[in-house]
Amino acid sequence: MPIFTDNNMPMNVCDLMNSEGNWDMNVIIKYIDNSSHNAINSVTINLCLHDRIRWKSTISRNLTTKSVYNFLNNLTIDKDESRFWKQIWNLNILPKVNMFCWKVVSNALALGKNMSKYVKDFKPYCLLCDSHDIEDEMHLFVNCLFSRNIWDAFELNNIYNYRGNQDITHWFKFWLNNKVFNGKHNLISSIIWSIWKFRNSVQFDKAVPNVHKLIDLVKVSHQKFNIPWDSKTSHDFVIAKMLHNDNPTDGRCTYDWFIHFDASFLEDDFSMGYAISILDKTGDRKQCRAGCSWASCPLEAEAKEGIEALRWVKDLNLNNCCIIKDCQTLMKLMKGGPEIQPWRS
Ligand SMILES: [Zn+2]
Repeated sequence: MPIFTDNNMPMNVCDLMNSEGNWDMNVIIKYIDNSSHNAINSVTINLCLHDRIRWKSTISRNLTTKSVYNFLNNLTIDKDESRFWKQIWNLNILPKVNMFCWKVVSNALALGKNMSKYVKDFKPYCLLCDSHDIEDEMHLFVNCLFSRNIWDAFELNNIYNYRGNQDITHWFKFWLNNKVFNGKHNLISSIIWSIWKFRNSVQFDKAVPNVHKLIDLVKVSHQKFNIPWDSKTSHDFVIAKMLHNDNPTDGRCTYDWFIHFDASFLEDDFSMGYAISILDKTGDRKQCRAGCSWASCPLEAEAKEGIEALRWVKDLNLNNCCIIKDCQTLMKLMKGGPEIQPWRS
C-alpha cells in the first residue's frame, strides 16, 4: 500500500483510528494514497473483539494440525538439499562430531571471520599458518597450508584439490558424493574435528601449531571413535568413552538413553538453529531432530534448545536419560547452579 512518510507517521493500525474506534480519515488521507481509501473504509471495525492471529491455509482461518501438515507437504523441498542433510546426519560418527559437522556447514563456528564482526580489534587471521589469510571454514579445513599437511599425511590430498564452488557446503557435498572418498567419511570427519580442536588449543591454551602433533591426535581420535558399530561390545565401549570424555565423574554405562543437543546463534538477526540426537544404550541413534527459532543471546539459544530436548524426551516417555552437552554454563544452570545469567536464559 503506497504510504507517504514523515517523522510523525502512524506506526500501528490503531493509530489510524479515532477515539470512537472509527477510521480517522484525516490521518488516513494524510499518509495513505487515495486509491486505498475505499478499501480501508470497507473494513468494519469491531471494538468488542480482541486481535487474533489468523492462519491463511484454512477457510476458517483457524490453525489446525492437519492444515499445517498439508501446508508442509505442499512446500517445494529441494530434494538435493534434503539428501545432503540426511548424509550429514547419517555420518556414522559420534553424535558430538556429527553435530559439529552440522555446525560447520551452517557457518556457526566462532572463526576469525565471524568473531571479528562482533569483537573489537579481534584479528580475523588464521592461527595455524602464517599466510595472513582470513580464517573462515574454507580456509581452516581446505585451503590452509597447515591443514593440507594433515590431509597429505592421510593420503587425502585430493580432498583439497577441489575446484568447485568455494563454500563449505559445496565442499562437504563434494567429498560426501565422490566415490574416491567412499569408506573414508569417518576419517575425514575425524580430521575436520581434530583440526578444529587443535585450532582451539592454539587460540585458548597458546599451543604452538605443530603438524606432527596434530597428525598423532587425528590417529588417536580416529582409532578411539572409529569402532565398528555392529558389535554390542563396541557400542558399550563407545558409550563408555563418551561418558568418560563428557562426564569424567561417571564412567559407568547405567543409562537407557543418551540425549545430545547443540545450538548455533547468529547475532546479525538473532536467529538460532538447534539439533537434538537421541541414542539408545547400545549407541544406535534412534531419533534426531533439527530446527530454528530466535534468541537474544547464545546462552538463551542453548537454553531454548535444552527445553526443546527435554520436551521431546517427555513426549517420547523416555526414562533414565543421560544428557550430554558441551555448554558448561548451561549444564551448571540445569543442575541448579547459582550462576547469574540473563533472565531469559
Ligand atoms: Zn591457515
